[in-house]
Amino acid sequence: MDRTDTRLRNYVDGAWEAVEGEDGQDIVNPATGETIGHVPFSDGDDVDAAVASAADAFETWSGTDVESRIQPLFEFKQLLEAHQEELAEILVREHGKTKPEAMGELRRGIENVEVACGIPSMMQAGHLPNAAPDIDETAVRTPLGVFVAVTPFNFPGMIPLWFLPYAVATGNSFVLKPSERDPLVAQRMFELIDEAGFPDGVVSLVNGGVETVNELITHKDVAGVSFVGSTPVAKHVYETAAAAGKRVQAQGGAKNHVIVSDSADVEFAAEKTLSSACACAGERCLANDVVLVHESVYEEFADTLVEKAAAMRVGYGLDDVDMGALITAEHEARVRDYIEGAIEEGATLLHDGRDVTVDGYPDGNFLGPTVFGDVAEDAAISQEEVFGPIVALAPYGEFGEAIARLNRSDYGNAASLFTELGAEARTFRHEAEAGNLAVNAGTAAPMAFFHFGGRKASFFGDLHAQGEDMIQFYTDKTIYIERWPEA
Ligand code: NAD
Repeated sequence: MDRTDTRLRNYVDGAWEAVEGEDGQDIVNPATGETIGHVPFSDGDDVDAAVASAADAFETWSGTDVESRIQPLFEFKQLLEAHQEELAEILVREHGKTKPEAMGELRRGIENVEVACGIPSMMQAGHLPNAAPDIDETAVRTPLGVFVAVTPFNFPGMIPLWFLPYAVATGNSFVLKPSERDPLVAQRMFELIDEAGFPDGVVSLVNGGVETVNELITHKDVAGVSFVGSTPVAKHVYETAAAAGKRVQAQGGAKNHVIVSDSADVEFAAEKTLSSACACAGERCLANDVVLVHESVYEEFADTLVEKAAAMRVGYGLDDVDMGALITAEHEARVRDYIEGAIEEGATLLHDGRDVTVDGYPDGNFLGPTVFGDVAEDAAISQEEVFGPIVALAPYGEFGEAIARLNRSDYGNAASLFTELGAEARTFRHEAEAGNLAVNAGTAAPMAFFHFGGRKASFFGDLHAQGEDMIQFYTDKTIYIERWPEA
């Protein structure tokens, strides 16, 4: 592909195609304000072309032996590793996070490719001889057709890989619609896919916005849809795609809580909590930004956290910094509004990140870590997903009270507990209503061989992303029953 052409193309039927749709938007480096590309929005005709080639490819790919199906995945893994630094730099330029964060997210993406390479074992479904007199029974998993994934801006290098490797390893064909805000890393990954040797049409890339999504998720030849993004859109995608007869899994937004017990190592808990809330400038569905601290260690914890927040270096993600830029100026303004709102609602501003300046980058969307104390449960920053580097602290007296507050959240993506007490850890494990729970770790991010997904308003569907759940999502099970009386 011509790297000087800043208007992105789709990758369809093994070739780079110009997009027919007339709408589109610029891609802007959030730290420098420079325009670094233009993403056109695919229309119905673009979507038809991609789905038609994917449906054609499925006819052959679904009958291709499993060893042949995983060879391009092994190749893709090696290409991703060889180009990891380059991909990370593209990701930083379009997203704004730091390079180590970008390297880390790509690593988790590659891990998903590695897991999917184990499909010859993972796809086996079971055989029972003598299930009944003279009868043997065998369960078989079969692929279903064309699958689509629609992904968000915050992990543009990782989230597509929660789906793509499993979809193709199981014998389906796959169409990705990346976020229109930072689609460049997916574009580069698809250049690597082109090199990896997948047959034409097995893996496609369709750039676009809202209309593109709605065309894809209702397309008559699409078998299923994976979605990751904000809760209102996740609900829309779940309802619309399900009504159109698709398999759907839709991961939504979050509001995650941490509980810091009086038994916890305060220094360690403060370090991990800050990094959970402020990594990727807080633009994470696993950001633990409501922190409930036992009243006996509340002040010590707050002081430690503020000291660490004040030491964080904010700047361009390609420089040596701890925290990068927010995705857009509009989003930065929205996060600043939350800070104003929290002050008006009576929270105590313990550390103010609003006046951060970054030398050399006057047009960057920068905001420093901001810490509030004594945040009421009904405050907006306790209830709503902010997606920025804000930490909301509140004291608790009884452990059960903290668990109850956590469980009253509309969301259920993740929660963490810092404790030295096994009994508290056990209660947390049994009672906390979130899909990803961590004890003595700030961020409950599962490895690729475990499923990833939340509950309540954070998830619509039943099978989650990554690992074994993906094999189930991408296949149907058939039972073969054979009766052969003894010869
Ligand atoms: P978003 O919902 O704005 O966009 C996600 C995708 O949906 C994009 O590809 C976009 O083009 C498309 N889209 C946007 N509006 C649409 C509409 N009205 N109709 C159809 N499609 C539409 O989300 P975002 O801002 O890119 O990402 C941040 C959100 O994603 C946060 O809420 C975050 O918590 C969530 N997220 C959740 C998880 C998880 O695993 N639960 C992981 C990462 C991000």
